[in-house]
Amino acid sequence: MIINMAVNATEEQIDHVVKRIQECGFQAHLSRGEERAVIGVVGKSEKHRGELEALQAAPGVEEIIRITHPFKLASRNFRPEGSVIELGKGVTIGGTEIVAAAGPCAVESAAQIGEIAEKVARAGAKLLRGGAFKPRSSPYSFQGLGGEGLKLMRAAADDNGLLVVSEVMDPSQIDVMLPYVDVLQVGARNMQNYYLLRALGEIQKPVLLKRGMSATIEELLLSAEYIMAGGNYNVILCERGIRTFDTYMRNTMDIAAIPVIKQLSHLPVVADPSHGTGRRDKVGAMARAAVAAGADGLLIEVHQDPERALSDGAQSLYPDQFAQLMAEARMIAPAVGRRIAEEKAHKRVAV
Ligand code: PEP
Ligand code: MN
Repeated sequence: MIINMAVNATEEQIDHVVKRIQECGFQAHLSRGEERAVIGVVGKSEKHRGELEALQAAPGVEEIIRITHPFKLASRNFRPEGSVIELGKGVTIGGTEIVAAAGPCAVESAAQIGEIAEKVARAGAKLLRGGAFKPRSSPYSFQGLGGEGLKLMRAAADDNGLLVVSEVMDPSQIDVMLPYVDVLQVGARNMQNYYLLRALGEIQKPVLLKRGMSATIEELLLSAEYIMAGGNYNVILCERGIRTFDTYMRNTMDIAAIPVIKQLSHLPVVADPSHGTGRRDKVGAMARAAVAAGADGLLIEVHQDPERALSDGAQSLYPDQFAQLMAEARMIAPAVGRRIAEEKAHKRVAV
């Protein structure tokens, strides 16, 4: 259930409602929107449900909304105006600006990540993506550079004014990663690793939660709910293609999931057409479609030498192709009331 407080509700009235919710054995999650405070009520206690409903008459309460979806805090009712999440260095996601995260599938060396960071920053990306801990389908494939990869990524990002997004695979990696990353990515294979999701609920760092390859939209939103129920509301969702009967592409990019999720949830949605297609020549079309469909961000794999990439070379764009994609997205964005950062002249920060 969601309790909408009146626009002019006082702090005492809000505190009173929160206290009563807790006395009834439920958790109260307070969200302060621009207009009003909204309180999400979650928990299983049936005993005091009647008392909870009586809050309808409490001073400062405007209305009580029953949420029929199994996800509550991730539901649009919790923040009808949509969530704008601060990523760092003044960059936010979920507002007017569409944010691009670009970089290699995996960090391979200082030279590799340094060159890519410089090129994607110039094209208008705000985040550098790259895996240090890689969830590979085969145990014999390159598994990532681990902690060393994180350091290389942070340095390359800082040199180019970028933020860092990288995948966390296990709760034990969270503390190792926090000093180096701005956004923690949960990969498709871990979307239902509830132990990991709960651990991410205990921190405040933004989490980019990718849709599992066979997950429904409801399952994705329930996974977001796991993180939010712990108190971390900084969740960004990612459509990265799903498995269907068609095997022509690596995955089937579910573009319709973008407007569906935007309707069901207040959380920002990012599109990953690289994993969504698996093929370099199809990434641009799906990125353009995602922008037109209302995506809040793009996650794009870029490599300067894709043929020699240690992972996902076939779907990695050359830096020039990424710049071209950004130029196209920049033209599409205004048609749907959005904008994308301009290309910039490169400025190397002195070290
Ligand atoms: C990735 O972003 O490199 C990745 C492994 O993606 P996914 O979890 O969507 O397969
Ligand atoms: Mn990849």
